[in-house]
Amino acid sequence: MDPIAYVNGSFVPLSEAKVSVLDRGFLFADGIYEVAAVLDGKLVDSASHLARLERSVGEIGLALPETTARIEELQKELVARNQLDNGMVYLQVTRGADKSRDFPFPKGVTPTLVMFVTAKDIVNAPSAKAGIGVITVPDIRWERRDIKSVALLAQVLAKQAAAAAGAGEAWMIEDGKITEGGSSTAFILTQDDVIVTRPNSNAILPGCTRKAVVALAAERQLRVEERAFTVAEALGAKEAFITSASAFVQPVITIDGKPVGNGKVGPMATRLREIYVDFARATAV
Ligand code: PLP
Repeated sequence: MDPIAYVNGSFVPLSEAKVSVLDRGFLFADGIYEVAAVLDGKLVDSASHLARLERSVGEIGLALPETTARIEELQKELVARNQLDNGMVYLQVTRGADKSRDFPFPKGVTPTLVMFVTAKDIVNAPSAKAGIGVITVPDIRWERRDIKSVALLAQVLAKQAAAAAGAGEAWMIEDGKITEGGSSTAFILTQDDVIVTRPNSNAILPGCTRKAVVALAAERQLRVEERAFTVAEALGAKEAFITSASAFVQPVITIDGKPVGNGKVGPMATRLREIYVDFARATAV
C-alpha cells in the first residue's frame, strides 16, 4: 500500500505528495517541524509536541494554517488512513511558496503544512536492549537551537559522522560541554545516583521526552539535576542515555569508543525507559 501523506488540506498517496520548488522550506529552511511517536495507533505526548510547535512558529513569526486542535485531528486521521500501529508522525510547516525568492516574509502567502508517517516498533527496538555508542563532534549550529527549525544541516553532518563510525548518535560539544545529541537529549547518571541533563536554554531543543522523563523521575523521588556536563564526566558516570520521541529512552554504552561506567546497559536507563513507555501508553490520545 502506498502510504498516505497530508499536504495542504488533502490526503494524497505519498508518491504524489508535492510542494512547489519556490516553497520557503526548500529555499531557506524557513520552517518548523515536529515528530510525535505513535503507540498502538495513538499519539504519544501530543499536547507537549503541539505546545512546542506553537512556540517554535511563534518565535519565527509564522502563523499556523490550522489550529493545534485541528492539527491533532489531522494527525489522527493520517494515522488511521495509514493503519499505523507503531511509529512516528512527521509534521512540517513552512512559510509557503511566494512568486519568487525574496528573503523577507512574503505577504498574502498561505503556509505549507505537510505530514507523513513512518512505521517503527519503538518499544521493541533492539538498540534499547543492547545500548548504543555515541561519537562527539563540535556543535556548529546557530544560536537558536530552542526552535525546532528544519535547518538541520549541522545535525545531518553530525549524524552522518556517527553512522560512518558505526555509532547510534552524535553528541555535540560546545565550550567543553555536551549540548545534546543530533536528534536527542543527553543524560548521565552520576556515581552518586543523580540524573543529570542540561537545562533548557537557547543552546538546546527543549525535548518533549526530556520534559516527561525529568517529571516522571522527580515523581518517583529520583534525584535530578539540570546542569551541563563534560565528556570526561559522562565517561566516569555510572550510566548515560538519550531521550527522543522516536527512541524514547535509549542507553548509551560508549562515547568515542570508550566505555561509560562498566560499558553495559544500566538499570536506571532500563527503568526510566519502562516508566516512560507506561506513561506513553497511559496518556496517548
Ligand atoms: N534535541 C534535538 C536536537 C532533537 O532534534 C530532538 C528530537 O528530534 C531532541 C533533542 C529530542 O526531542 P523530543 O524528545 O521532543 O523528540
